Parts: sequence; C-alpha cells; structure tokens
Amino acid sequence: MLRKRSKYCPSCTTKGLKPTSNPAILDCRHCHGLWFEDGSLNQAIVQQHECLDQYDHELHLGPALRTSERLCIRCRVTMTQYQLLVHYSTEIDCCPDCDGVWLDKHEIDQVMHSPKLKQALTDLNQAVSWKSWLFQFLTAMPAEYNVQPQRTPWITRTLVVLCSLIFGLGALSPEANEWIFVNLALNSDTQSPAYFVLQLLTYQFVHGGLMHLAGNMYFLWIIGDNLEDALGHGAFLALYLFAGVMAALAELLLFDTSQGPLLLVGASGAIAALFGLYLMWFRHASLTFMIVVYQKKLAPHWYFLIWSLINVVGMFSGQGDVAWAAHLGGFALGLLLGYLLKDYVFRKNPLIAMLNQPEAMLRR
Ligand SMILES: [Zn+2]
Ligand SMILES: [Zn+2]
Repeated sequence: MLRKRSKYCPSCTTKGLKPTSNPAILDCRHCHGLWFEDGSLNQAIVQQHECLDQYDHELHLGPALRTSERLCIRCRVTMTQYQLLVHYSTEIDCCPDCDGVWLDKHEIDQVMHSPKLKQALTDLNQAVSWKSWLFQFLTAMPAEYNVQPQRTPWITRTLVVLCSLIFGLGALSPEANEWIFVNLALNSDTQSPAYFVLQLLTYQFVHGGLMHLAGNMYFLWIIGDNLEDALGHGAFLALYLFAGVMAALAELLLFDTSQGPLLLVGASGAIAALFGLYLMWFRHASLTFMIVVYQKKLAPHWYFLIWSLINVVGMFSGQGDVAWAAHLGGFALGLLLGYLLKDYVFRKNPLIAMLNQPEAMLRR
C-alpha cells in the first residue's frame, strides 16, 4: 500500500502545509511561515523587484551557521541554518539535499527585500576613503554614508536653489541686500500680524553670509534627500517650514528684546529639526567627524550629541549673533516629531525599518 505522506510545517510540526497560488510555495495557516521549493524563492524575489538588473538575481546567503532543529518537509533530513546576508544576521533554514527553504513569518519581508538590503548595507559599511578625508579636511564638513534615495529630492533641491538665489540677489548691491533684510527677515518689531506670519516663513530663506549659507545648504543637501524620500515631497516641505516657524518662536521666547529688536534670518532652525528626524530614523547612517587629521564615521546620535553640546555651550556663554535657542528648539522639535512619526515612516519604508533592526550589522 502506498500512502502519500502529508507535508508538516517544519516549525509547528503538527500542522500540514497548504499550497499557495504558486504550487512551488506552501504556507502554514497556523504560524504563517512559508516553504519554498528549490528555485521558487529566487523567482519570488525577482518578481518583487522590477529593477533587479542592478542587483544580483540570486539569493546569496551569508555564512552557514549551524545545523537547524527543523526537518526538510520532503527529505526529512535536518536543515542547515544560514545567515541571510553577511551583514544581516537573520537566520533562515535551507535543506542541504533539495535546496528547499523555510521562512518564518517575520523573516519573509527581510528575505524578499534582501537584494536591496544587501546593496544598502554595502553602501553603509563603506570605509572612509582618501576622497572623504580630503573633502572634510578642505571644507570642514562631514561626509555622509547612507542609502540611496529612491525618489528625486525635488523639494530639497528647490529649497537650496531658493536660498542661494536670494543670497545671490542680496550680493548684487547694498540696496538689494537692505531690501531683503527689511522685508524678508523676521523682525520682532513688525507691527502687522499678517506680515509677521509671512516673515516667519520668509526669514528661513535669507542668510547673513556666505559661510552661513554654505553650511546650512550643505547639511540640507546631504540629509534632506533621505528625509524627503522617507516622508514624501509634500509632507517633507510642510514639516520643514513648520519646524522653521517653531524654531523662530523658540528664539523669540528666550530673546531679551529690551536690548533692541530681534532680527532673525537663516534656515538653521528648520535644518536643526531635520537633524532630529534623521537621528530617529537613520541610526544606521554615518556622518564623519574629524579630529585634526583623524577622520571617523559616527552614528547620527553621536554626531548630533556633539553638535547639541556646542549649541548649549554657545547659548549659555551668550556668544555673538548665533540663534542658539532656535537651533536647540528646532532640534528638540525634530526629535519629538521623529519619535511620533517613526512607526508611520517605518511602515511606509520597509527598507529603512529593516536597517533599524538589531539584525543589521553596521561597521563604523
Ligand atoms: Zn506552522
Ligand atoms: Zn530537502
């Protein structure tokens, strides 16, 4: 008598597996894991990625780790556990005889995205090069290591162009510069409420000097593209302008107007809020920090911690004409919004969510 052995789930062991719309893929209705017959996993991954030609078509696993406790549903031999990627420590079960693969429910998304995950981890784990060293040595600006955005950062580019354009116009003649400062800068003496509200927006596009402009625009350029990609164009713009308004209000709140009116310009407040968002969502990214001639990749929380300390010291020493309170206010707002929007952003961007998992192995 011939009896067809039913295929039991390798994880629950007592529940049978049922075929899905693709007969080479079976699923467990109980634990929602998936069994892939030899080759069907690669096919499923290729189908998920329309633009796979930039990536490898095949699943390249990381190192074999150990013998699994699970049995292959066909061969009844113990499977082998492999690390998903060299730099991603999810462990998946593969049969050494038939090359079938078992994925637990929480591993499915990670494996399906593995070509992108692999590319992202390669980018993030790049070591500093002589180019990044020379760049920072000459400009005193950090090099950024992060994933490539999927969308063109139109808003970020437009903001950079607008700020530069207004600065360029001001540089044409002293009269033009005067006009810009009188009309577009935020002035605490402004009487008309409507005009004051307008200034809360326009002051963000005016800069006091070339270094002020260059520093702000550089940071907007390197971190704005990733944030715009994560949020979408409209939400990014709304958040940026809102943060600029709130940062100005923070500066006004702490400013002593008995010494004269506050005249505020610059995108720093809004950009400080972007730092907060960046820290909450891109903990896998790196910004380089340079001590004399030694360049080191730092995680955003270290980088921005140093940045905040400089601002706190600046605020209490009451130094010069820098709007310390606007910087710190903007940063605090960014941290809060970053925390509140974290789940939304991770749901919208599975790759960013996966890179924030402890499985991501980052080299700094
Ligand atoms: Zn199961
Ligand atoms: Zn097998």
